[in-house]
Amino acid sequence: MQTDRLRIAIQKKGRLAKECQELLKRCGVKISFSGERLVVHAENMPIDLLLVRDDDIPGLIMDGVVDLGVIGENELEEVRLERIALNEPSEYTQLRRLDFGGCRLSVAIDKDQTYNGPEDLNGKRIATSYPNILKDYLDKKGVSFSPCMLNGSVEVAPRAGLADAICDLVSTGATLEANGLKEAEVIFRSKAVLIQRKGEFDAEKTELIERLLTRIQGVIQAKESKYIMLHAPSDTLEKVVALLPGAEDPTILPLAHDKQRVAVHLVSSENLFWETMEQLKALGASSILVLPIEKMME
Ligand code: ATP
Ligand code: MG
Repeated sequence: MQTDRLRIAIQKKGRLAKECQELLKRCGVKISFSGERLVVHAENMPIDLLLVRDDDIPGLIMDGVVDLGVIGENELEEVRLERIALNEPSEYTQLRRLDFGGCRLSVAIDKDQTYNGPEDLNGKRIATSYPNILKDYLDKKGVSFSPCMLNGSVEVAPRAGLADAICDLVSTGATLEANGLKEAEVIFRSKAVLIQRKGEFDAEKTELIERLLTRIQGVIQAKESKYIMLHAPSDTLEKVVALLPGAEDPTILPLAHDKQRVAVHLVSSENLFWETMEQLKALGASSILVLPIEKMME
């Protein structure tokens, strides 16, 4: 059942929830998140948000129930492989990779065990919530294993005698270490992505999706960029500008009471490190300001 409003599925609670809400807010979508509602309506745009468990998002897109979704690539790929095996619809369009939710899916083993490569996993029992991605990876390496499907507490499985190894999401590795495990092999690198269902969209929805994408681009680019202002001696100006990351077209302005120096303004594609600021200072630059940018449109 389709509606006139664009339906976007996002995680209700968890590691992706906050950043999804923040992204939509920065894109100018006005939403008040309150209570236990499954659907919330944006106040200023024809958009409805579906707040669900992340496990449900790939299926909602692949079945064409919602228009857009934000999901970790790990979850998306796991569901896609599972659906292919079951002969169920598994298609979607990826609109863009986002700048949050970064993690990796890794095989980890007892920290005292040696590891020479995937062949060491042959015939082992591996505890995981991602049996399809793991099987896909190990099949390609010609390694067979027995899965032990766990949806939580995967990292305690070896100690509990349930498995020889695990395959789980890692970001810092602290959880592995706390459980006497070490990372042996990274099998999948993941970030959050914005995906779209297959099929037709009417002209209004198509236009709204285009607008959202342009705004998302602007939000992400702004987060990665800085506005830099400084004063530099005219005779070291070239060297100063050469030190600034991504400075294609700096604005050079005269100073009111100092003919030997100029003001340099520019948008930098990355942050300015303390080391670079120290080098700039050594070239005679002063009043160096690094400012965050809130929005950008090219
Ligand atoms: P839900 O209740 O919605 O099913 P969940 O417990 O399955 O939530 P979360 O732990 O909230 O999921 O993680 C959601 C996603 O966040 C993961 O699938 C992954 O893409 C991403 N993520 C980023 N960093 C990590 C991490 N360190 N550990 C686990 N997931 C991470
Ligand atoms: Mg989940």
